[in-house]
This record gives sequence, structure tokens and C-alpha cells, in this order.
Amino acid sequence: MITKNEMGWNFDNTYLGLPKDFYTKTNPNPVQEPELVILNKYLAESLGLDVKGLWKEGKEIFAGNCIPVGAEPIAQAYAGHQFGHFTMLGDGRAVLLGEQITPDGARYDIQLKGAGRTPYSRGGDGRAAIGPMLREYIISEAMQGLRIPTTRSLAVVTTGEPVYRETVLPGAILTRVASSHIRVGTFQFITGLEKKDELQNLADYTIERHYPEIMHEEHRYLAFLREVIKRQAALIAKWQLVGFIHGVMNTDNMAISGETIDYGPCAFMDTYDPKTVFSSIDTGGRYAYGNQPYIGGWNLARFAESLLPLLHENEEQALQLAQDEITKYNGIYRENWLNGMRAKLGLFNQEEEDHELIEEILELMEQNQSDYTNTFVALTFDKFEDLAVCGTDGFKNWQQKWKERQNRQKNSEDEIKDLMRKSNPAVIPRNYRVEEALEAATEGDYSVMGRLLDVLKDPFKHSAEQAQYANPPEPANQPYQTFCGT
Ligand code: AMP
Ligand code: MG
Repeated sequence: MITKNEMGWNFDNTYLGLPKDFYTKTNPNPVQEPELVILNKYLAESLGLDVKGLWKEGKEIFAGNCIPVGAEPIAQAYAGHQFGHFTMLGDGRAVLLGEQITPDGARYDIQLKGAGRTPYSRGGDGRAAIGPMLREYIISEAMQGLRIPTTRSLAVVTTGEPVYRETVLPGAILTRVASSHIRVGTFQFITGLEKKDELQNLADYTIERHYPEIMHEEHRYLAFLREVIKRQAALIAKWQLVGFIHGVMNTDNMAISGETIDYGPCAFMDTYDPKTVFSSIDTGGRYAYGNQPYIGGWNLARFAESLLPLLHENEEQALQLAQDEITKYNGIYRENWLNGMRAKLGLFNQEEEDHELIEEILELMEQNQSDYTNTFVALTFDKFEDLAVCGTDGFKNWQQKWKERQNRQKNSEDEIKDLMRKSNPAVIPRNYRVEEALEAATEGDYSVMGRLLDVLKDPFKHSAEQAQYANPPEPANQPYQTFCGT
């Protein structure tokens, strides 16, 4: 038995204070032969956990074989629009152990993903295969390195049990750490039950947990909607700026905290092309790179709809209030994105025509099939010879305009370069590098993944080692495809 505070575990369980509709008490299903294959030392420390103790005995907890005292495991209920279609869902293969209170008093959900069947599993086995769990580990930690709000990955254990997909694969469980797992779909779920009191409970709980600054506002549910819109707009702008493609932006995969959540078929874009899609199931390109900002707005409209009963007693007025907020999303998103792009180009101040300069370089990149990340790195270090586009007249014209634009601001060349270095990552988790790491790990060699995680830790370092990870993939016969991995 793991007693309270042993290994630093310090659980609270405030989600259980919500009405019973929101969850079902469920223990994780024990597994045969757990083995701890990766542990996030830095994250563990920041959570107040004892790293040595976890390496020695943590596997029983990460496998769900042993519940630390103080944790009261649940599976959460939620709904979601999956590819546009509304469905009742819930944690079908995840169990929330509880909320870890860190030494600084912060609160984080500790969730075991792949912990076996729950009342929400429908036809699924509740399990996960090693590849997708390690993939989530790598990409979520890469996002953290890129300074993009994200859930984190604390550990992966293999279960010693097979999972049956198209082939038989080794089973694994990921320990996910999140500010919370409250989603747009959590609100849709309770609104769908037409229980206004419970909707209010959830809204109050979420405001207190993620938006305490608006707790005392007179129209706090409207303020809540406004703030969620702002955080999502900022988040999606950050994705666009680094070429991240989530792959499955269903409303159940959009966290109210503003963290990126649920790394399934996600991947980073190499060659700049707004139509880029990697997910094998996204045949219509609904979640293509260039469509993500629009889908963000669509999802937020679903969120606004679910809040309607709290916005005003009069339905029409509620709708009007919601619409007024939702219409602001595009502008807020665009502002975030433009400012991010300005920073990537070394621009500190704002000029009306900046969007033209930005769109022009993107167009040139698209025409010349340029690598998105490496183009900005080349611009940062004046390595124009590395750029596929640099020989073109179009680029030379653009470069002239860009230099003139930079010179119209008061900042020095050093300041400009510094801003660009901080805004343009040297590395992203390239798909072929991720695959290489997963392949080795599945064979039991975790060193390849370890090295990849090291270079992704601070992608703005621009170190010599990172340069080796910057190469775009060799041209392939087949386009790269990702899978949901469920
Ligand atoms: P996702 O596509 O990972 O966001 O999952 C969508 C829904 O399917 C969620 O409710 C999951 O809990 C559920 N789900 C995914 N994989 C499984 C599985 N292997 N067993 C049971 N439920 C699953
Ligand atoms: Mg999900």
C-alpha cells in the first residue's frame, strides 16, 4: 500500500464534489507485469514527487495496480462533436486518479490513459498500445519545449499484456498530467442532460479552477465564455506558428484550461502547405493545418451554445450575447497570429500592412514547397543559401521589403536577431524522427527516444546537436500518415 505523502503523492479530489452525473467511481484495472519504461524526472520533481522512489516502486501506481492513499479514482463523463457529429462519450480508457497538489499549491489531474474498461468504454477494450502512448509522451513534451500550453506526460509503463488492433501490440499506460480534463464536451454533456443547476455547478467549478480572476464579475458566465475564447484563440495561433497539426479537433479534445490535449494522430508539418493532413481518418481534410483556426471557432460556438442557459433567462438575448462574443474570435485569433508572425520576422512594432508581408512569404514558401520550420531558421541566421525559395525573384523582392520594414523600427540588429531566435524553433519533432524513436523503443531501446527528447527540451537553443535533427524528411513514395491508435 502507498500511504499518504509516500513518494510525494498528495492527492485531493475536488471533482467528486460535482454532481454524480459528471463521473463514475472506477478503479483502474490491474495489469499482469508492469514495467516502468520512461519517467519524466523534471516534471515529477515539479509535482513534488520523489523520483528515486518512483523509479523503484512507481510502476505499480502508474499501472493502476496500486492506488495511493488519498486518490479516489473516477472516469469522467463527457460528450463531443466527433468530426461534426454529436456523441455521448466519457473516459473509455482513462482513469483519473485524483488531483496532485504540488509543493507550490498548484493542482494537476493525474490520469492513467490505457487503464482498462470503464462504464464509458462502449465496445472498446480500455487499453492502449505502446506506440501511441510514447508518441503522446514525445509530442506533448515537445509542445512544452515550444512553450505551448499542453498536458504533460509523467510516465509510461508497459503492461506485459497484448492489445489487439490490426496486429497484436504490446500494451502500455501513459500517466498524463493536466491542469484539468474539463473539455468543451464536458459542458455539452451536461447541457444535453438539460440540468441547468448542474451546468452552473460545472461552470462555477471551472471558473474557480481556471479563471479565478473573473469569479466576482457581475456577468461571470459571459466573462467565462470571453476568456475561454481568448485562450483558445491564443493556443491555436501558437499551433499555427510552429506548424502543429492536432489531427482530431473534436470538441471532446478541446480543454477549457486552454491546454493542448489528446495527442492522437497529430504531427508537425514539414513542407508549408495549408492543406496538410496526416490523419488517416480525416479524409475530408476537416482538421487540415489551414483549417484549424476555423475549427477552433466552430468548437467555441458549440461551447457558447452549451452555456446559453447561464447567459440570460431570455433565450433570444442569451443567443445574442453568445454570438457577440463568438464573432470576436476571428479578430482575436488573427491578432495573436499576426503578432507571433511579426516576432518570427523580427518585427517588434505593428504596421497596418504587415499581414501582406507575412502572407507574401507564406505564398512563396507554398509555391516553392519550402520547409516551414527551416525557412524561418534560415531567415533568422541569414542562411539564404539554405532556402529553396531564395533564388527566386519573388524572394529577392520580398527580402528587400522585409529589410526596409525592419529598418523602420528603432530596434538594433542584435535585438531583432534575438527576437527571431526566440521565436523560431531550431527543431520540431519531425515525423521520421518520432517514428525512428518509437521503432527503437518498441524493440526495447529507449536511447533514441531519450536523445530526441533532449533536443526537443529547448528548441530555441539552436545548438549544433539540434541541427542534426533539423533535416526535412527524404522524399517518400507515400505521404506520411498518422493513426488514432485507439
Ligand atoms: P479519442 O479519439 O482518443 O479522443 O477518443 C474518443 C473516445 O473514444 C473517448 O471517449 C475515449 O475514451 C474512447 N476510446 C478511445 N479508445 C478506446 C479504447 N481502446 N477503449 C475504450 N474507449 C476508447
Ligand atoms: Mg479524446
